[in-house]
Amino acid sequence: MTNETTERRPIDVVSLYPNDMNIYGDSGNVLTIRRRLALYGYEPVIHHYNQGDDWPGHVDMILGGGGQDSGQSKIIDDFFTRADLLRSLADDGVPMLMICGMYQLFGEYFETSEGKRLDGIGVIGAYTVGQDVRMIGNLVEHSSDFGDVIGYENHSGQTFLREGVAPLGHVNAEGRGNNGEDHTEGARVNNVIGTYMHGSLLPKNPKISDFLIAKAAERRYGAFEPRVGDAAKAELDRLEHFAVEARRVAASRPR
Ligand code: GLN
Repeated sequence: MTNETTERRPIDVVSLYPNDMNIYGDSGNVLTIRRRLALYGYEPVIHHYNQGDDWPGHVDMILGGGGQDSGQSKIIDDFFTRADLLRSLADDGVPMLMICGMYQLFGEYFETSEGKRLDGIGVIGAYTVGQDVRMIGNLVEHSSDFGDVIGYENHSGQTFLREGVAPLGHVNAEGRGNNGEDHTEGARVNNVIGTYMHGSLLPKNPKISDFLIAKAAERRYGAFEPRVGDAAKAELDRLEHFAVEARRVAASRPR
């Protein structure tokens, strides 16, 4: 028997290359999505996709993390076997969050500081050039979609957005963001978010978590309809409390 409370509502989430692309706590993004989906009454189904794995039969959301230049080189061949698929899912509105190293590879190319060029899949109109100075520290950016977004950046690549590509947000003078020059941070194309924000990003920024979840649910079920009982409500309130605290501390320690 199916009714409102027992009906299963799976949401299939792909964690992209967790073995090689997962630094500075980026796996926390996957944990956050899993937890919040469950609290909203959905059934999270997490697929860990690494090189050579079968691609899952159904995908509602994709999460990718950061990695060293060496990690990016390790995944690049396999990544290109999935490039057409990822581009068509992005065009089709699948929500995706790509952090740092995967953000760079969702762009057009990444040229490392040693002059090695890795082509990206071009979902995001942006290119990245490595430099010797690393851009490191907590960061607050101002986003028209999500308000203040708070995270931690650590990268040597400078990313430049092509004309007309919307940044995720803008950083103030202390923040480096995409390149340390034009005050942009990240990018937003359709429902794909690229950003340098580690931290993990999602526990500290519930608005972005809920955006990804709402888009995934709308695509799969036609609407985002949270079913939140009293215990789940209390847990969401607790998570909100910790998010507020973590944001306060991170924002007070910029570098
Ligand atoms: N290797 C890339 C850079 O340093 C990405 C680093 C990261 O993902 N944190 O620019």
